Amino acid sequence: MGGRGIDSEDMPTGGSGGGGRPFIPKVRLSDDGEFCRFRFLTEHDEIFWERFHKLGQGSDFRGYTVCLNSALDQDCERCEKDEKPATTLFLTWVYEFSHFYPPTSEAKTALKKMKERDKNIVIKKTKVGDKPFFEVEVNEPMLMQYSTFFRGPIKTRAERHGTLLDSPFEWIRNGERGEQQLSYVLEALDKEKMPKELKELMASLPDLEDVALGRVETLDQDGEEKEDSDNFLEEKGKKSADDDLGLDDDGNEEDDF
Ligand SMILES: [Zn+2]
Repeated sequence: MGGRGIDSEDMPTGGSGGGGRPFIPKVRLSDDGEFCRFRFLTEHDEIFWERFHKLGQGSDFRGYTVCLNSALDQDCERCEKDEKPATTLFLTWVYEFSHFYPPTSEAKTALKKMKERDKNIVIKKTKVGDKPFFEVEVNEPMLMQYSTFFRGPIKTRAERHGTLLDSPFEWIRNGERGEQQLSYVLEALDKEKMPKELKELMASLPDLEDVALGRVETLDQDGEEKEDSDNFLEEKGKKSADDDLGLDDDGNEEDDF
């Protein structure tokens, strides 16, 4: 049975993190050292967790489907058929500001495709410490859906500060592609009040339980809420495009994509 709260004792560990990107965009880090900057848009006691079955393996991985037995107390075909038992995942909303890709060949290929899909995307070469990265502006609400195996850093932050909403964070992957022994680091940036636009967005996002159960599959909503969040995103989008124009002398680097 699922529930809420990052410190629930019922949450078993194990399994692997990440997820597909079928409709609602998901936070996903693929390379060692890859990280993103975000703000949580879900407070720690509202983080939703439930058991899921994995669809497909390895390169055939197609995301997760909720365990009907656990979620709704119904017969679950997957529990009968699947070799592996369901794994517990936690779900939380975040607003991803930017994403930092180490310059691996896989990341370069992915960024090239991204640029082909969206010409306005802003990709910059940057350094963090002495390590080179490609920094991509994202500015988008996303779903964080990870195995509860990786909840440790979030739980610790919530326990020590009583909230996840007091600052932006970096979520950093530790572990090469295909690595079984993965971990993630949650690094808090300087404390900062939640901007009004993000507060409004936070209030407009779908309930995580509805997302987990597949009742909501996109971020398109009806009514006023939709307008609020869309306006905000459009403004952000425009800002990105302007920044891009201002960086025209960076053109050589952009040619990498
Ligand atoms: Zn099941």
